[in-house]
Amino acid sequence: MKILVTGGAGFIGSHLCKALLKKGHEVICFDNFSTGSNEKINDIKNQIELIEGDCNTDDLKKAFQNNIDIVFHYAATVGVKRTQEKPMSVFDDIIGIRNILELSYQNKVKKVIFASSSEIYGNPKEMPEKEDGIIDPIQPYAGVKLIGEQLMETYHNKFNLNTCSLRFFNVYGSNQISNAYGFVTGKFINQVLSGKNPTVYGDGSQSRTFTYIDDNINMSLIAMESESTNGQVINIGSDKEISILDLAKKIIKSCNSDLEPVFVERENYDIVDKRCPDTTRMKKLLNYETKFSLNQGLSKTIEWFKSNK
Ligand code: UDP
Repeated sequence: MKILVTGGAGFIGSHLCKALLKKGHEVICFDNFSTGSNEKINDIKNQIELIEGDCNTDDLKKAFQNNIDIVFHYAATVGVKRTQEKPMSVFDDIIGIRNILELSYQNKVKKVIFASSSEIYGNPKEMPEKEDGIIDPIQPYAGVKLIGEQLMETYHNKFNLNTCSLRFFNVYGSNQISNAYGFVTGKFINQVLSGKNPTVYGDGSQSRTFTYIDDNINMSLIAMESESTNGQVINIGSDKEISILDLAKKIIKSCNSDLEPVFVERENYDIVDKRCPDTTRMKKLLNYETKFSLNQGLSKTIEWFKSNK
């Protein structure tokens, strides 16, 4: 099939492009390179069609000229801190989502898969977090993702366009650029590998569940192939919770280092204390359970950081 991946030069998008190529699909990689980079797609440059553009209709039309079968809309302004600094550019993403849906509808695309986010749950009111449970989209980024999900649903219900929204829970792995803008796993690995104490915010009791990139990609592919995902919103992630302090200790150990975590003041935008998905729907609709333990995923990620420093 001919598959358009927006955000194809980003962390998840670039892994997705590679997995789709491996499955024999034709891939059109669309990115504005704001946070995506050539480095991530260098090894597949001659196998993809690369279109540099924003998700406005003019740029997107260049991609849709190609008789697209499937769209993965994974382009977004990402990183908790960055989305705080530039809330207005985050809101621009709403127009992009709408453009994707309208062009997909006009061009009779078979399915649109949308990268949503666990950020929609805010500081959770119930654990584990259920797709149709209580949500609290505090951040502009979360609000945009929620609007995106609603638009996906409306196009599905009203216009018979097959859509599916995947709520991603903290994904990590190779090619993820971690810096002041977030993505704690890579940040801690970078710190430890360069001999610095990993900076734990607050007392480190806040917790997350971390999903290795290969599990995330496997589920994105199943979501594309399976009809049972049409019109659905699905949590995508591991349900094994770990505190950030324990994550820091685990990374130190996995790097065979004797550094100690250092405690620093928590940033004021960093307000989510806990996060853990209810994975009932994921297991039922995708028939998938995460395959990579945190230890396995971290050791693969650490190897990648070592050889790409
Ligand atoms: N965090 C930390 N030290 C850092 C960066 C992040 O302790 O240098 C913590 C942060 O408090 C948060 C968690 O790691 O609870 C995950 O942060 P990230 O930015 O990766 O993603 P989030 O889940 O907040 O979107």
